[in-house]
Amino acid sequence: MARYTGPVCRLCRRQGEKLMLKGERCASPKCALERKHNAPGYGQRSRPRKMSEYGIRLKEKQKAKNIYGILERQFRKHFAEAERIPGLAGENLLRILEMRLDSVVYRLGFADSRRQARQLVRHGHFTLNGRKTDIPSCLVKPGDVIAWMTSKQGLIPYQAALQDIGSRHIPGWLSVDDKSLTAKVLTLPSREEIGITINERLIVEYYSR
Ligand code: SF4
Repeated sequence: MARYTGPVCRLCRRQGEKLMLKGERCASPKCALERKHNAPGYGQRSRPRKMSEYGIRLKEKQKAKNIYGILERQFRKHFAEAERIPGLAGENLLRILEMRLDSVVYRLGFADSRRQARQLVRHGHFTLNGRKTDIPSCLVKPGDVIAWMTSKQGLIPYQAALQDIGSRHIPGWLSVDDKSLTAKVLTLPSREEIGITINERLIVEYYSR
């Protein structure tokens, strides 16, 4: 599945806010947004343009895509699924995005960023319910068990995750065994547990126009 391969800090500068796409670096003074506050392609003195209603909705959709590292085609697929299932389409969409395997790996603290989590999944570091799974967009469900492949447990990502697991905040809808790093999906995440500052209503409006 295609993904954005350009510089991710540009995405934050375009949005004008930290999207936390680079793990630890995002909280450090090295963050590009700490040094450059203007949008890429605009001079230092350029004034922000007034945005149309359409522009505001488009920007919110782009923000969600950037945070979860997804391109338009996949994002639309997730939105179509969100509309199909019962409940509010916006909340359903965020829930679906959260329950992608790469996002769950990130939430479990096995990777510093969703980007890194996606790479780990792609490189076959995990099993889902006992079967090797290397598809980042694969959706998990309550009761699913995510574990590290035995063959990958001698490598740096597993060792780093094992070392850091005590200091990670794991959301209440997931549980993880500190010793084996085997995790379980307990429930669907609530909107509060997802916690991302996205106005999902604007995304629904964007696709409903
Ligand atoms: Fe965004 Fe992180 Fe880059 Fe800062 S360091 S601009 S928060 S991706």
